[in-house]
Amino acid sequence: MKLDRSTITASPQDNSRTRPRQKVGFVSLGCPKNLVDSEVMMGLLARAGAELTPRAEEADVIVVNTCSFIESAQQESVNTILEMAGHKNGGKAKKLVVAGCLVERFRDQIRKDIPEVDAVVGTGELENILVAAGVGAPHVPRNGSSSPLVVLNSRPEGHARAAQGRFSRESWEGAVADLPNYLYDDATPRVLATPAHRAYIKIAEGCDHPCTFCIIPQLRGQFRSRRFESVVAEAERLAHSGVREITLIGQDTTCYGEDFGLKDGLALLLEKLAGIDDLRWIRFLYAYPNKITGKLLDTIARHEKICSYMDVPLQHASPSALKRMKRGGGADVFLRSIAKMRRTVPDLTLRTSFIVGFPGETEKEFEELCDFVREAQFDWMGTFAYSDQEGAAAFGLEKKLPPREIERRRKHLMAIQRQISRKKKKALVGQEYDLLLEGESEDTDLLLEGRTARHAPEIDGKVFVNDFPEEITPQPGCFYRCQITEAHDYDLVAKIL
Ligand code: SF4
Repeated sequence: MKLDRSTITASPQDNSRTRPRQKVGFVSLGCPKNLVDSEVMMGLLARAGAELTPRAEEADVIVVNTCSFIESAQQESVNTILEMAGHKNGGKAKKLVVAGCLVERFRDQIRKDIPEVDAVVGTGELENILVAAGVGAPHVPRNGSSSPLVVLNSRPEGHARAAQGRFSRESWEGAVADLPNYLYDDATPRVLATPAHRAYIKIAEGCDHPCTFCIIPQLRGQFRSRRFESVVAEAERLAHSGVREITLIGQDTTCYGEDFGLKDGLALLLEKLAGIDDLRWIRFLYAYPNKITGKLLDTIARHEKICSYMDVPLQHASPSALKRMKRGGGADVFLRSIAKMRRTVPDLTLRTSFIVGFPGETEKEFEELCDFVREAQFDWMGTFAYSDQEGAAAFGLEKKLPPREIERRRKHLMAIQRQISRKKKKALVGQEYDLLLEGESEDTDLLLEGRTARHAPEIDGKVFVNDFPEEITPQPGCFYRCQITEAHDYDLVAKIL
């Protein structure tokens, strides 16, 4: 999300009689989980009286909420900080604040190496955005504690992994030792940066898994879930304000509730949310493969409002590569699990993602992955090129692959998927679906653009609308019955009926 997102709006309380209201501009980088953090910080700022602006050149304070997942994300974060620093050097901005994952990784270094940065705010201290932006004091929560959402429970796996050093930042120069443990709740103000008809809800934060390529646990801390009632209350409020589609997110949504002893917590939560009248589509992302229970699948199958959509990042399919990744599983296990998903949830849309070029990935392991992709026939698939992360266990592994070879493998795998996708999209031609209209196409103003339940926001292909009955004026945020008329590799064309 860049500053020019016209959707950033707020209705702040105006408590600025004694001093002019600060104009704050936001740049949010990275994943939807980071976007929710940005929305929370914008909500806190707006409640404290700040005015949010989508234009960097108008802002008194610019906040860059960064991503630090892989090296390219770190580079993009640094480039954006430097670009925004330009508005301080000779521009209107008086303050530049850096927030998010990059702060958890390089807190001291950011301050030292980029002198334009006035303050940093880590992922565990979102309320400090008020002091950092010079807008006010941190909000004192209802129970009077300075951190209302301190984690009281954690999963036994989390304790065990902590004892094994999974969350240690010792090798990271410039990072502080304390792990984040913040988690917002339904009483925390949020300014949605998504269109008014859809929203993300973060149901959990942090991760306890041992994946050797990943530093998210060190960046985000131990897994912790939001209270069940808090998620439901937030969903009800969003639905009341006009949101029709909710996407549940977290580093691992399928562990939801385990830290407070809830079994099948995600299934129970989905079931409860499906009872909210004004919601039309509910989905969740980031399922962990061995956490997909029969009850979860039954729940998806039973409720029309819960999209028949699963996002299960598998990362690889070769058992030996998965073992080095400390993920477990393999092609056979995954194929059985996929068959069960498709059996239980008719017309399931399945998304996954893989990492290619993991240290020591042999040609044979890569071929196993290619064969698996051909057989599994995913609807959507992403492929990441492995990138070394200091602090991740894989950093110390031998047999690193040359970047050119990693890129060759990435392209090869995506070429296989492109053919699968083309065939699958072709099979949809002539079928009818409910379409949620997003508005004018971002690619051309001659077309409209929308999504069916088979398309998660922002990550999947698009449905372009090139025809609708003369008597209607299609409105963004409304649902229309449509028929698919054309298919491309990833995108579809439809007419509104
Ligand atoms: S489950 Fe996801 S967030 Fe957690 S360690 Fe593995 S890759 Fe990272």
